[in-house]
Amino acid sequence: MSFKHKKKYGQNFLTDQNNVLDKIIEVSNPNKNEEILEIGPGEGALTELLLKKSKKVNCVEIDTDLEKILRKKFKNEKNFNLIMGDILEVDLNKFLVPNTKVIANIPYYITSPIINKLISHRDKINEIYLMVQKEVGERVCATSGKERSVLTLAVEFFGKGEYLFTIPKEFFTPPPKIDSGFISIKLHQDRKYEKQISEKVFFKYVKAAFSNKRKNIVNNLSTLKIPKDLIKENLEILGIAPNERAENITIDKFIELAKLFETK
Ligand code: SAM
Repeated sequence: MSFKHKKKYGQNFLTDQNNVLDKIIEVSNPNKNEEILEIGPGEGALTELLLKKSKKVNCVEIDTDLEKILRKKFKNEKNFNLIMGDILEVDLNKFLVPNTKVIANIPYYITSPIINKLISHRDKINEIYLMVQKEVGERVCATSGKERSVLTLAVEFFGKGEYLFTIPKEFFTPPPKIDSGFISIKLHQDRKYEKQISEKVFFKYVKAAFSNKRKNIVNNLSTLKIPKDLIKENLEILGIAPNERAENITIDKFIELAKLFETK
């Protein structure tokens, strides 16, 4: 009997057509010294290739109907480790080793929480390769313009995002509604932004600046109960126009701005 895909788990499986799986392996480049974390192995199409190319593949899968299929398929693979559970609940510290690489075609309904969780384990994870919805991938990796959001800044603060390639929806079974994008996030090993400012302070200002996309930076920052005159004064020091929008402010300027507010 063939597997019945569940919409609630975002189950759009990659089939081994059109060399997509090979392309994922080529760009993510796993090697025999590396452990991999795969979120949502599904029926194991990508897992099969990862097992051949890496030291160990730790898979986290929520759907118990897939457990039997996966255990049977990989019963002879000693480097296959299946953890049944919800990726957002599972304690990754129990099995992740330093320098783990994440390679996954994730369930799209929890893209942001997954990215945030992976970033929070940056002591063990150094590179992340993910299949996401095309628009989300473009937003995560946007270097300028309207697509930038709090998630873009979150990725930039901890790493470097790159949009690698697009995968048409027809390459999945069943096909999702929209095309997908494959992205990478290489976490900053030198912690270059974390060294400059605390995560908490940085995101306090970033979140406020993006709180209403239609409003300018002065109005958005005033939600932090900072007097508008002081906001304008600090913006002027940094050469930012008062009617500027958060999406046009670089991470370096955000850090400078947050530091100014914290000292004044
Ligand atoms: N990797 C497979 C492939 O490329 O064919 C399947 C990808 S499918 C887009 C997403 C997978 O994530 C499914 O296997 C689904 O059951 C699993 N999944 C959904 N929600 C999950 C969660 N909260 N934790 C772990 N796995 C989950």
